[in-house]
Amino acid sequence: MMLRSHLSFGLLAYIILFVNAVTLPFLGTLNQPGLLATVFYLIGLITPDIDSPNSFISRKVRAAHTITNIFSRHRGFVHSIFTGALLTLGIGFLLSLKEYDLAIAGWFFIGYLIHLLTDAMTPHGVKLFAPLSPYTLRGPIRTGSTHEKVISLIVYSAALLIIAKNFTNLL
Ligand SMILES: [Zn+2]
Repeated sequence: MMLRSHLSFGLLAYIILFVNAVTLPFLGTLNQPGLLATVFYLIGLITPDIDSPNSFISRKVRAAHTITNIFSRHRGFVHSIFTGALLTLGIGFLLSLKEYDLAIAGWFFIGYLIHLLTDAMTPHGVKLFAPLSPYTLRGPIRTGSTHEKVISLIVYSAALLIIAKNFTNLL
């Protein structure tokens, strides 16, 4: 999926989670995210494409891309729930040292998960449980296709509608 699709699906999920108190296993009820949680959510949302040479994040953080590429190709183990969970644990550990709210790490994980699920809509799919299982979750939407652009636009519009309904007097 293109960055803008990840961002529009990410925005929709964020808004839905923001206006509803959602309870998740291990993480408890997520309070409305603060600025730091939102930043970590965004980082989680774009981090998996560190394994893709032309992605936004790879261009920004060349060194990290070079290191990941030694171990993995695009949508290899980086696009796995386990890598997301491992990174979340690391972030949680660092946050606990500074006595920050652990939910911030939870928001990173949710962002990561939304990225994986969005990529799972493409025919290339995602090996969600790599390296434990080769099972690939896939869908019919080709990356860069008109299909993807239309769906991305619909998702973006839905997010804007929810924002307008909940935070403005427009609707
Ligand atoms: Zn991806």
